[in-house]
Amino acid sequence: MKMFCLLLALALLAALPMAAVAEESSLYVKKVENLPEDFIFGMDASCVPALEASGVKYYDFDGSEADVYQVLADNGINYIRVRIWNDPFNSEGKGYGGGNCDIANAVAIGKRATASGMKLLVNFHYSDFWADPGKQMVPKAWKGMDIEQKTEAVYQYTLNCLTQLKEAGVDVGMVQIGNETNNYMCGEKTWFNIQYLMQAGAKATREVFPQALVALHFANPEKVGNYETYAKKMDYYQVDYDVFASSYYPYWHGSMENLTNTLSAIATTYGKKVMVMETSYAYTGADTDFNGNTIGDGGAIEKAYPFTVQGQANHLRALTDAIVNDTVNGIGVVYWEGTWISVGGQSWEENHEKWETYGSGWASSYAAAYDAADAGRYYGGCAVDNQALFDEHGKPLESRKVFNLMREGNEIPLMADALEDVTIICDLNAPLALPETINAVMTDDSKQAIPVIWDFTGEMDQQMHSSGVAQYIITGHAGGMEARCYVSMVEYNYLQDYSFEEQSPLWQITDLKKADELYIEDKKTDSLTGTRHMHFWSAAKDSVEFTLEQKAQNLPGGKYRFTVSIMGGDAGKTDIYAYAKVNGETVASAPMTITSYGNWDTAVTPDFTCEATDEVVVGVYVKCQGAGNGAWGKIDDALLNSVK
Ligand code: CA
Repeated sequence: MKMFCLLLALALLAALPMAAVAEESSLYVKKVENLPEDFIFGMDASCVPALEASGVKYYDFDGSEADVYQVLADNGINYIRVRIWNDPFNSEGKGYGGGNCDIANAVAIGKRATASGMKLLVNFHYSDFWADPGKQMVPKAWKGMDIEQKTEAVYQYTLNCLTQLKEAGVDVGMVQIGNETNNYMCGEKTWFNIQYLMQAGAKATREVFPQALVALHFANPEKVGNYETYAKKMDYYQVDYDVFASSYYPYWHGSMENLTNTLSAIATTYGKKVMVMETSYAYTGADTDFNGNTIGDGGAIEKAYPFTVQGQANHLRALTDAIVNDTVNGIGVVYWEGTWISVGGQSWEENHEKWETYGSGWASSYAAAYDAADAGRYYGGCAVDNQALFDEHGKPLESRKVFNLMREGNEIPLMADALEDVTIICDLNAPLALPETINAVMTDDSKQAIPVIWDFTGEMDQQMHSSGVAQYIITGHAGGMEARCYVSMVEYNYLQDYSFEEQSPLWQITDLKKADELYIEDKKTDSLTGTRHMHFWSAAKDSVEFTLEQKAQNLPGGKYRFTVSIMGGDAGKTDIYAYAKVNGETVASAPMTITSYGNWDTAVTPDFTCEATDEVVVGVYVKCQGAGNGAWGKIDDALLNSVK
């Protein structure tokens, strides 16, 4: 009875809503509807002890030095995730880095998390160093074991680690059996073997922490069908688990819609809980520790939000909303290593010494003993310091407040947060018109056009027009921020679908002799560029005669030339030429020849002029008598360029 009362009291305590914190914040945060009180807001903070040993200090919002786990707890984080490597040390006891995350590190972190009222999410890699979809190396001590021995080793190891955590009084809420185990785990490469290891880890977890959730963790939700396959295998082998978890890095892992649909299908089909086990977002493109970052400022990355503190918060808010409201059985979102910041040195050398000594970089040179090909070659510092929720000095970023703020919302007046980059492709022979307004990305991620002033002179303009094909960045300012315009000076092509890749209906084929084959073909090896081209073939003599034309759209008045390429064979006597017609009259043409496979002949017409109101048609006329097997050929890359 006494026990019952205690449990009841605890249950009531747990059911009490969190004290509503009316927090002042400059972040715009739209409330996430239906957000459960016990929704998991996790933070992977595995590197903290190594960083602290390297001299890193963390601060609270009031500027005072603080226990980072307490800061996290105060800001709505209720789970701390920690990775465990079996033995991340070489034979001389030198750490491989990445936080040297062994079980002792996990116990130390677990105690601090528990003291701050958070649960621990234990992440077993079953490796001596990083495990991910591309790498699942077996621990040194387990090398050469057969699957039966390895299964027993996983069981004993999991049992032992979890017992240590239990004896230390750590509140373990979830245990992850393997990290990003896409088809591989602990050196095993078949699901038949992997499932034994997963079963062993789950069994040990159930024995030590019967209340804890057992999670499996995978990556690459964007790969169609993969998650369904994994879940089906788990079901077939009856692997005992509660949570199907996914990494979700928005730069690489497809749309949020795909993520939620994929996870929901698994939740529905197999009755599992689902969650995001890792995510992060950059608050800046800049690096702070002299070790380049995985996500920089680079234009190749698809950015859903600007790389700002508000952008970081917007990503987290959108992902949480997607997992809460668009996902079946979605239970949480865990941020990856939001506490991993620079070790603070003023040079690479200074930081390198700390990374080597304390294991506070992603890998130390000592990792070569275990992973010579990757860590042993590319060891260094932190590649995610620009995605942390603390700045380089350990001061919390405003985005840290988003976890609390999304419960009630903080819909303050909108402000401009960043500027959208402008991209212009400019004809070398046409004037460069820079826009007078630029889109400001507002704090709610809406766009608003604002006036922009470009730092652009007549001298620059002249130089850009006289330096040939090249790329430039023109800067300016708008709304107190730096604006950027990426300009490509090109020989602009006024034709649509110049390489037949889009099968544009603007290309008109007129078949005058009913060739056996005359169509756009998808065959990369026969294309000049891209994968498609115009193909023709006909067996009978004198059965190839056609034109291929495009009427230019919105062509400004001026001087132009037309260029197009052809190759083919077995053509016999031919009459082939490229031409341009203005108002139905041929004004320029250039002959073309067919010789043999792979020998492209490129025709360039003489220059011709037109007015803006004229109808301009360019095309190729092809007539082949045919020889032997019948004429065949390929036409590709049609260019209508302006000429000075
Ligand atoms: Ca870095």
